[in-house]
Amino acid sequence: MFSQRYEIVCKEVSEFPHTRPGSLDSLRPMVASDCAPFFWSEGFGLGGKLDQAIIARSAEVKGALYGGQVFVIVPIYVTSICEEQCLYCNYRGGNKGIGVERKRLTDDELEQEAIYLVEQKGQRVLELVYASDPRMRVDAMCRHVELLRRVLDRHGGGLVGISAESLEESDYRRLIDAGLCWSVLWQETYDKARYAVLHPGRTKKANFEYRLDAYERMLVAGVEHVGIGVLSGLSDWRRDWAMLMRHEEYLQQHYGGGATILGTPGLKLAPGALLQESPYTLTRQEFLVTIALHNMFAPTTAVFVSTREDWDVCVELARGGGCLFTLNCSTTPGGYSLQHGGCQFTAHSYDAPIYSTKLRSEGLDPVFNWRAGDLSPAYRPDAAVCGGVSKR
Ligand code: SF4
Repeated sequence: MFSQRYEIVCKEVSEFPHTRPGSLDSLRPMVASDCAPFFWSEGFGLGGKLDQAIIARSAEVKGALYGGQVFVIVPIYVTSICEEQCLYCNYRGGNKGIGVERKRLTDDELEQEAIYLVEQKGQRVLELVYASDPRMRVDAMCRHVELLRRVLDRHGGGLVGISAESLEESDYRRLIDAGLCWSVLWQETYDKARYAVLHPGRTKKANFEYRLDAYERMLVAGVEHVGIGVLSGLSDWRRDWAMLMRHEEYLQQHYGGGATILGTPGLKLAPGALLQESPYTLTRQEFLVTIALHNMFAPTTAVFVSTREDWDVCVELARGGGCLFTLNCSTTPGGYSLQHGGCQFTAHSYDAPIYSTKLRSEGLDPVFNWRAGDLSPAYRPDAAVCGGVSKR
């Protein structure tokens, strides 16, 4: 398990600031030890020639693989009742602060939200999002996956994914049997000491190692697409991203496909959160070039474009295609058709019918009813493009 290699990987990554980065000229995916040292290169994130070269090469590699196709996705928050204590989150247990309004959707309400998004917004790929609600464990999640599958099957098909607390391997198997296609989980930060400060108590999420190993439990269970990522801004982002790359490499070496979705959440300070400042936040330019560099590291991993970001940043992240793109977004259970209030964090909501047109005007091709195999060019007949880049 990666948790057993954690200390060794930390030592390896501590050498990266003193390591000469690899060449940007190769069209082949890079290894972490070639790629991650760029984070510490002079000029990285300052908008100069190095950034321009990385961003241009990223768009070139992605474009050759995906031809500008972006895969549309919509989150459906199911519950905002949480027993965790994450310092950066509005939904932490016991918080009665600004804008917090707890809600747990009934099955009927969840179905209403799903039908609205499918029929009114054309959505076909639905992501169930859960806080750590003691009354919404795997039994409820399986029921919800089955419910959404029935809605989608009545409307010509689609996919269901999940963003939830880390689970047991047997739980992931049950979710797959219910019809789950993918599962995403953000490690938040790889800095164990900082993680302990941000996740106090003796809760499940406070168990750093259990979360670190969740990706392996998903892969062993057979989850088709696994999403990994850090919440950039919680800790030293250069180190977090370097650790993330090494973690991804480890998963690929030990579990074939590894993670195929990359979460890109950036810390946005929520009004009711305990964490109200962080010295680690990235600039816009640092964020964009970091994702672009990751695209060169793992071209067939789909960046999850989050509407925490403004439209221009979302479009920049999507250059070349091959990403999950959020159209319509509410971080409130019942925030679409039911018009509930009390969000986890403020997000932009780019309405699908309008913003599909805008994406096309940016040279991107939004696909709503995509298939699991579309995410990875390894499944595609044209996988030989881009100098033979395929799933590493
Ligand atoms: S980040 Fe998730 S687990 Fe943590 S308090 Fe917020 S909703 Fe709960």
